[in-house]
Amino acid sequence: MMTTIESILMPGERVVYEGSEVEYKYVEDDRVKVSDSYIIFITNKCILLYKERGILFKKHEAIRHMLADIYDISYSERGIFGKMGVLEIVFRDGNRILLMQKPTITRAIYKHVIDGWSENIKINVNIPLIQNIFYDISTLLNYDVNLADLPPFILNKISRLAQIYIRILYVKTMMKILREDKGKLVDELEKSESDYEKELKSVSHQIQQYLNRVYEAKTGVQVRYNIITDFSFKDGVLTLKCPNCGGSIDVKQIKNNTVKCKYCNSDLMIPKKLLELL
Ligand SMILES: [Zn+2]
Repeated sequence: MMTTIESILMPGERVVYEGSEVEYKYVEDDRVKVSDSYIIFITNKCILLYKERGILFKKHEAIRHMLADIYDISYSERGIFGKMGVLEIVFRDGNRILLMQKPTITRAIYKHVIDGWSENIKINVNIPLIQNIFYDISTLLNYDVNLADLPPFILNKISRLAQIYIRILYVKTMMKILREDKGKLVDELEKSESDYEKELKSVSHQIQQYLNRVYEAKTGVQVRYNIITDFSFKDGVLTLKCPNCGGSIDVKQIKNNTVKCKYCNSDLMIPKKLLELL
């Protein structure tokens, strides 16, 4: 089997997961176009469904779905007796596939598809999770950030943020499904959420610095106010940090939505969402 599969791989493509037979449905414009069973393989590039037809005159059939084209993924387990795991993957063209098998198998497939999506994700604002990330960044900076204005080094950081986000979605889904043995997942969720927050603050700060530099170069006007993107909650108390020197901001000194850093004297602005927390 492996030799046959390897012969149909693209250059640079390798098998990451070799599964068993799954029920596969391909839905186009809300109509089921294909419904059949296939052997599933997940490579570093795609989800590959494979089938051999004929006994005497063997002919293979392979269906590919690129991991980079994934728009959204959902996983659920249905049925009380003889539970089935159902993995639904929506692609950017609006078409979707359903993969069904016993939970032990579909969970493994789900995990590998998630990892593959994470490695292949394209920063495109039409994808819901990327939209959510831009919403978080824009909220923290208090202005709308457009993808088109950002340079590659920041897009790379946003990819990293997307990977953490995908991990959070995966862990949350598994927590809903698993009744016991949640301890590890709870720890992982906590860690991923704190990684996301840390990375979000750092990306937002870099975006701000970058956009300020662009603005200054274009207009010759120096940006006076820096926006605070670093904050933390300790025992119900909000602490804000100066983006220039890292010094703590005395929240009592905030007037309207601005404050002067007493260490480096820079003028700072506090995003609306953070002010609401005070
Ligand atoms: Zn400062």
